[in-house]
Amino acid sequence: MGRDSTIEFRCVNEECKEVLSFPVLEVNEDTAVTCAGCGRRYVFNEELRAKFLKFARLVEAVRQAEEILGMTKVGLDIQGHSIQVPYRILLTRMNTFLALDIGGRKFNFRLRVEPLKD
Ligand SMILES: [Zn+2]
Repeated sequence: MGRDSTIEFRCVNEECKEVLSFPVLEVNEDTAVTCAGCGRRYVFNEELRAKFLKFARLVEAVRQAEEILGMTKVGLDIQGHSIQVPYRILLTRMNTFLALDIGGRKFNFRLRVEPLKD
């Protein structure tokens, strides 16, 4: 995983909606992200930090397996027609959003890594 992989999310302040980001590998119990727009401060508990890391590792594992996955296909039956979709196409469109419900609020955390090459 690149050292510069970051997680982005939008400030919960409705009047602000600033996009905040932090490096996923450097997040720890002392990490506090302060919104540049409204000054709201965000800290991440252990459970949340573990989720960020698992998510980042999942995306990284898929990227590492790119060579093998590139040789595989997913067979789909659509209205009696059998089609094969190269896994690679699915990968390049892989969703890198982690949707979490935190204290009744929905957060979409986006992991930013370099895109897969076509
Ligand atoms: Zn804000």
